[in-house]
This record gives sequence, C-alpha cells and structure tokens, in this order.
Amino acid sequence: MSRIFSGIQPSGELHIGNYLGAVKNWVQLQDRYECIYCIVDYHAITGSYEPDDLRRRTRDMAVSLLAAGLDPEKCTLFVQSMVPEHTELAWILNTVTPLGELERQTQFKDKASRQESVPAGLLNYPVLQAADILLYRADLVPVGEDQVQHLELSREIARRWNAKFGVELFPEPQPLLTPARRIVGLDGQAKMSKSLGNTVGVLEEPDAIWQKLRPAVTDPARVRRTDPGTPEICNIYHLHQAFSDPPTVEHVAHMCRTAGWGCIECKRVLFESMMRELTPIRERAAELRAHPERIDEVLHAGAEHCRAMAQETMAAVKEHMGLDLAPVPPLGRAGV
Ligand code: SF4
Repeated sequence: MSRIFSGIQPSGELHIGNYLGAVKNWVQLQDRYECIYCIVDYHAITGSYEPDDLRRRTRDMAVSLLAAGLDPEKCTLFVQSMVPEHTELAWILNTVTPLGELERQTQFKDKASRQESVPAGLLNYPVLQAADILLYRADLVPVGEDQVQHLELSREIARRWNAKFGVELFPEPQPLLTPARRIVGLDGQAKMSKSLGNTVGVLEEPDAIWQKLRPAVTDPARVRRTDPGTPEICNIYHLHQAFSDPPTVEHVAHMCRTAGWGCIECKRVLFESMMRELTPIRERAAELRAHPERIDEVLHAGAEHCRAMAQETMAAVKEHMGLDLAPVPPLGRAGV
C-alpha cells in the first residue's frame, strides 16, 4: 500500500477553508492508503508566537482533526516535535540543498519581504518540509497548487542526497493531485485565513456562523432582489458546491440567475447544508474535549509509531554518511 505524508499547521481549530481544502480529503484517503498526518509545530515557530498559545493551538488542531473524521485505527496522527528525527534529518538535508533554490521559493520571498529581520528558519522551512516527507520515505503527498513548488524541491533534495551517497534510499515523493478546493474568505477578497479574519470555524456555534454568513459578500450585480445574478462569481455559490447536494446546487444556480430569490434566502439554504455536515463534527469535538486523555493517547501512540519508522530511516542515512560510530554509553556522574 502506498504511503502518504501530509502536515498541517497548529493554527487552532479548523476553519472551513482548511477543512474543505485538505482535511476532508485526508479523511477519504485514510481508507485507501497508509496515511501519516502530522501537526507541524516546528514549522509554526518561524514567526513570533506565545508558547502557551502554541500548546493550546496544537491541541485544538488535534481535536478538530479527530472530530472531522481522522480515525486513529486507520491513520497515524502525531505532533512533529514529538519525533525529533524531523529536525535531525532537516539539518542533514540542509547540507545538500543549494541556497539559490531556497531563495527562489515564492513563499520565502513573500514572507521575507514583509519582515524587517528574516530568521534563517524561514529560508530553511522547505528543507524541514522535505525532511518531514523523506523521513517516512512517503510515496505520495496530497498537494494544493500553492505547494507544488515545495514538493518539487523535496524531490530535488531526495535526488541530490541519493546521488551524493550513491544509494536510492529516498523515493522521490509524487504529488497526489486531489480535488482540493481553494476557499475564498467571506469578504470575497482573499483565501480564507485566520490572520485575515474572514473565516468560518468548523466548530463554531450555529448562531455565530449565521452572523458571519448573513453579511458575507455575494455577486455585486444583485443590488435589488429583482436583479439576476451570476452564481459562478459568488463565493456563497462556491460554498453551496462544497456543502449542498447536487440538486440543491442546481436549484441555487437557477434561482440566482432568474432572481427567483434573494441572497438571504440563498444563504439560509447554505446554512442548513453546512449544519448538516458540521453539527456531528462539533458534537464529536465536545466529546473529545470532555476526555482530553484520549487526545494524548492518540498523539503518543502516533508519535511512537512514527518514531520507530524515523529511527530506521536515520540509521540508514547515518550509515551511508559515515555518521554511525558506536554510540557513547550513557555518562555516569563523576565519582558515581
Ligand atoms: S442568490 Fe446566492 S448565488 Fe446568487 S448572488 Fe445571491 S448568494 Fe450568491
């Protein structure tokens, strides 16, 4: 069975952008592949952050992922910093990664241009991503369009390491192009993102979700109720495509084009579709929160499973690199 690796930032509770764009797909993949899913907290420390907040966001993300349908019986879920081999391999891969390749990465250029002092971790971020994937010798990585460049770099790093040490240890991970949706925020302007404040949380209370949907941007041509609209340019229609069944989506498009209803009625129908999907997730999350020990169990079991695989890879890497002298026995205290 092919092995998949994918990671998600510990951004706290899931919003519908990352749920529809990645996690819903992860849930389907766990039935068909050996899936390793990682909450990438080492990736989250390249900017400023509060340690307590990071801890909380990491746990909230674990709750969201399990509530959304990741099943520890079918996949492995763990937190990156619980398997220190990620950073060990990242250092090693740094030694075969050309600086120019890292400086050309679009995400680095974007983020660096917005910071006065750029930490080296931001530049080396894609090397850690390569280490995440290669540590488990994953065959496939589900990618959105914006991650294709990073995956290509991981493939390049695998090729370079293999060529330098004359062994095909790392398979070149292939992209698994999946029907991931790029969800625009409720402002209709940019990708849904917590930092832009345009998100809908998967675990948010129904009232809060409705208060956000009600004023959400629609087709600007629909000034009056009698003005026909173009559903394809409306974000609410795109959300219908994600949450409503096909006959409802067809009905929405017809009612929009013929000005058969107003945008508020359209949003009411969307709200009901969303509740059908999100209510069971919210209920599972409440149940998990009432038993935090279950989250710890899942994450520890996941880390233990991954650590065994990671140690196996690192043993082979070190052997081929001449880094495998016999380990020093544990130090005793002087005089003991
Ligand atoms: S009727 Fe629905 S699809 Fe059409 S513009 Fe309004 S909210 Fe968008």
